[in-house]
Amino acid sequence: MFFIVNSKKKSSQLHITAMQPVQMIWLVSLLLSIAFCQFISYDEFHRDHLPQLLSLTNDSDENVILRFNKTRIPGSKESKDVQEFIINYFEKLDHEWLVDQDSFEENGFSFTNLVFSSTIAEKYIVFAVHYDSKIEPEGFIGAMDSAASCGILLYLARFIDNVYSLEQNLIDRTISAEYVGIKIVFFDGEEALKEWGPNDSIYGAKHLASKWDQKNILDTIDLFVLMDLIGSDEHVTIPSFFRGSHFYYEMLSELEDSYLETRSKGTKSLVPTDHRFLELGRGVIDDDHIPFYNAGIDVLHLIPLPFPQTWHTIHDTFDHLGQEEIYKWAELISNFVINVVDLYRL
Ligand SMILES: [Zn+2]
Repeated sequence: MFFIVNSKKKSSQLHITAMQPVQMIWLVSLLLSIAFCQFISYDEFHRDHLPQLLSLTNDSDENVILRFNKTRIPGSKESKDVQEFIINYFEKLDHEWLVDQDSFEENGFSFTNLVFSSTIAEKYIVFAVHYDSKIEPEGFIGAMDSAASCGILLYLARFIDNVYSLEQNLIDRTISAEYVGIKIVFFDGEEALKEWGPNDSIYGAKHLASKWDQKNILDTIDLFVLMDLIGSDEHVTIPSFFRGSHFYYEMLSELEDSYLETRSKGTKSLVPTDHRFLELGRGVIDDDHIPFYNAGIDVLHLIPLPFPQTWHTIHDTFDHLGQEEIYKWAELISNFVINVVDLYRL
């Protein structure tokens, strides 16, 4: 295993000194408009859409998170229903997302990863989650593992859609310039079918990584953000696991600080001063990021450690999700994507 330090953000600063006055005026007005939109439009978007899409109690037509409140065993009818729901959801968005259904068979099960790309770009930021649920114990829902994160990434897609539709002027130099794009990935088969091990786990992630290797897509991934076990009603800590993504972890932690300050509710999960895992220099948790991390991609693994107490028990249900925690993460991830894309602006 090894780390690749991303130098893009440092070299981009060099262009500022060579700027002509007209470019500088353009830049200042762009930055002002970004600031304006972040503090006004985005806040407004979150206020309107969080309760519509991610309420744990109000089961309206707009709600996306409650659609995952069922078992989602690979190849089952429930799994296919969820896949259909996700695809229909993206198809109804204003912006045209590119869809890739990556289906395959293994160990007598059929699996399907769903990949949605905002555009064809030179570089990508990937946001990933697994939508399958464990076979045992029977009736296992996996609300935080990882139904809640699925809902949050559908929210993110709606948020990005809003940015595309309403803030076109802001993204002309970035997303629409087809330099950096967003991929949202729903993995199937993260859970072991019988017992967790290298040959019985992360079926979807392994398959997609190998497909992306063959298609030379792995080289275009600048950051791989994986969400897992998010949204529990327990107070959790999410450590920084990798030196290569610590810059992004700190960025997210600053967003969390300002979120908690302005909302006066919710609790702090990120601890940027805790460098225990960075010093180890290797991953300590097996998850869907492994094949991508092994390919040298910077991984931001958003997973609580220790795991919440309901982990892999029949009690991992929607009753044990925390509404505020889900709203917090949906807003943080949305604002995070804007900040990351901003790194490509200059
Ligand atoms: Zn699990």
